[in-house]
Amino acid sequence: MIALLIVLSSLFINKLSGETKNILVANYNTLDYSRQMLIALNNGIENPESIKLFQENLNGQQNNITEAGEKELTEKLVKNFEKLKQSPAEAVMLRNVQKDITDIMHLNMQAIQRKSSIAQSTADSSIFWVTLVGTICFLIAFILLVNLPGNIANPVKELTGSIKQIAAQNYSQRVHFEKHNEFGELATAFNSMAQKLEEYKAGNLEKLMIEKRRIETLINNMKDPVIGLNETKQIIFMNDNALKITGLHKEDVIGKSVQDISVSNDLVRLLIQDLFIPENKSGENKKAPIKIYADNKESYFEKEIIPIKIIPTGESEEKMIGNVILLQNITPYKELDFAKTNFIATVSHELKTPISSIKMSLQLLENEQIGKTNAEQKNLIESIKEDTTRLLKITGELLNMTQVESGKIELGMIPVEPAEILEYAVKANKSQAEEKKITFQIAVPEKISKVMADSEKTAWVLTNLVSNAIRYSYENSVICLDIAETTNNILFSVTDTGQGIAPQYRDKIFDRYFRVPGTKKEGTGLGLSISKEFIEAQGGSITVESDFGAGSKFTVSLNKASV
Ligand code: ADP
Repeated sequence: MIALLIVLSSLFINKLSGETKNILVANYNTLDYSRQMLIALNNGIENPESIKLFQENLNGQQNNITEAGEKELTEKLVKNFEKLKQSPAEAVMLRNVQKDITDIMHLNMQAIQRKSSIAQSTADSSIFWVTLVGTICFLIAFILLVNLPGNIANPVKELTGSIKQIAAQNYSQRVHFEKHNEFGELATAFNSMAQKLEEYKAGNLEKLMIEKRRIETLINNMKDPVIGLNETKQIIFMNDNALKITGLHKEDVIGKSVQDISVSNDLVRLLIQDLFIPENKSGENKKAPIKIYADNKESYFEKEIIPIKIIPTGESEEKMIGNVILLQNITPYKELDFAKTNFIATVSHELKTPISSIKMSLQLLENEQIGKTNAEQKNLIESIKEDTTRLLKITGELLNMTQVESGKIELGMIPVEPAEILEYAVKANKSQAEEKKITFQIAVPEKISKVMADSEKTAWVLTNLVSNAIRYSYENSVICLDIAETTNNILFSVTDTGQGIAPQYRDKIFDRYFRVPGTKKEGTGLGLSISKEFIEAQGGSITVESDFGAGSKFTVSLNKASV
């Protein structure tokens, strides 16, 4: 359009310049020749210089005939000039020549006027055409300006929208550009991609559905109750056994918030209580089995909450997408455990009486009044006595353990003098210590508060600790027995200089039946675990510090009796 305007303007300018040039060449020169000829006449025609000037300009005029009638006038001038040259004195001749010249001038001036009006009209029309064409060009440019970006942007916008839909897995999305240009090709390519994705998704979906049904059947047939939650703690599945023990119906729970369900269901409330506790705090009573009435009897379940974390495609960070609450039915094991505990309780109880009577019989045997015993018999009696004591200790420990296991620790909490408890433990271990020539170094503050404890059980624990200290100490060593008082507690500590306990076993020695590998002394591995249960049942704690190879310190902490 700019080129069109340039060409049009140049054409008009060219035309105008041609027309003005025409005026210059054709008429202006004639006027100049005429003026020169008039000057020559004025200078006097007798003068040869004037004749020469006149002749030159006349020749010029003869070669510059441009207007109609100009030729005749010029020829007339030539003739009259010839006449004037022959009779220069004649005034008529001079006037004729002057008239001819003014006629030629007049003719040319008229021509100039005519041509200038033609040039004017050419200028007018060029202004008109250039303005018209310019306006049309502007209008076209404006229309293009408004419409062209839209023509390009709209398909791009549509395509972007469609790509977003595909990214959101809406594979039924298509684009519709009807143009047969690059956009059209792009649309075809895009639509074919979307179609392929749709087919792929449909195929995959079918497979996924089969897999989903397979897993659902698997979960439903599991004997253990399973509950699946999504990241917003809504129930996404609950197998038949989970529905059975909670007494809920599938249609009432699926898609519902587990918190809402827990409001009206005690068991669900119990199952999810750890779910809302931060991970590090929930560990404590995780392993305590849950007692539920199921299968027409009391059943025991071990709860496990498994967090489900995945790394989404294209991302690097793990994302939590829900939890699975798994209840493992441990009733059969629990029943076996009860049977075992009952059996041990019965056996150890039944054994206790005959062993005690053996012990009494031995004491009678030692009595000189019954009859004299020789040295060998005395030795035998002594060794039987030791074995009976050991047997009694074992049966006592086993009985205590059954109490602990069945959760039936009966406590008689009363305020007791701490020194009394310690004294009992020292007395009970006296002969054992003497055998190994071990001495006790006892430190009890003169004034000390009473301790709130079950004196029998605490005495049992201290006896056991002192007995261990003796057993795991070398001969001729010293065992320190201290009692101390803090703001709220009474601390009993038993420190020996024996073999000590390796760091990796320090937590384990309080486990039932655990014995440090390689321990040669006889024992059941029950003493410390029962001690822990007894002390904790009284609201206290038992701890160990040990310098491996140099000795151990066991500390029992119990609450002070309030004054
Ligand atoms: P038992 O002594 O009957 O084996 P315990 O429960 O009393 O059972 O102790 C568990 C284990 O802890 C022992 O087998 C022993 O290896 C270790 N142990 C306990 N007390 C001490 C001690 N004072 N010094 C060294 N090791 C000890």
